Amino acid sequence: MAAQERTSSDFTVEIKQTLGGESITRCYQCGTCASSCPVAKMTDRYNPREVIRLALLGQRENVLGSDTIWLCASCYQCQERCPQEVEIADVIYALRNIAIREGKVPKIYAEFAATLTRDGRLVSMSKFLEKKRIEYGLPPLKPTGVEAIRKILSATGFDKLPISGMKGEST
Ligand code: SF4
Ligand code: SF4
Repeated sequence: MAAQERTSSDFTVEIKQTLGGESITRCYQCGTCASSCPVAKMTDRYNPREVIRLALLGQRENVLGSDTIWLCASCYQCQERCPQEVEIADVIYALRNIAIREGKVPKIYAEFAATLTRDGRLVSMSKFLEKKRIEYGLPPLKPTGVEAIRKILSATGFDKLPISGMKGEST
């Protein structure tokens, strides 16, 4: 096998070496997570058992390149119930973090990241929103202290990610 080829175990090792992904190989595909998952009840586009199965099969591009891993609501119900103590929600975070490093992020999250970097908010204030706040009797929003936020983003390396709005490839 050529040195640069990846095997399914390459992806498994990559996940296990990523914070949160350590427990993935304990999965024996019982499906308890899927039957506990409120998102899986709402849509057949998301099933945590399938995500883990695909990951263990080395389906790297399928797992990281689709928006499926972004549908998890991080409720941890699956993690509470898994008989194998797979930290499923944390595995999903690990997969997201691998995807983020490669700029594979749904457009909406890339936009949130860019707005956070630029304005210190996830969503920009618009004239429309300002007007609505007045209508509802809400006070004007205070400045965000964007310089402090940028310092945090820089210290954590967030601003170097390809989703920070500066280099911006996204799915
Ligand atoms: S509940 Fe645990 S062992 Fe069962 S399929 Fe889900 S992750 Fe795997
Ligand atoms: S943490 Fe995610 S995968 Fe687990 S039950 Fe909640 S929504 Fe489903």
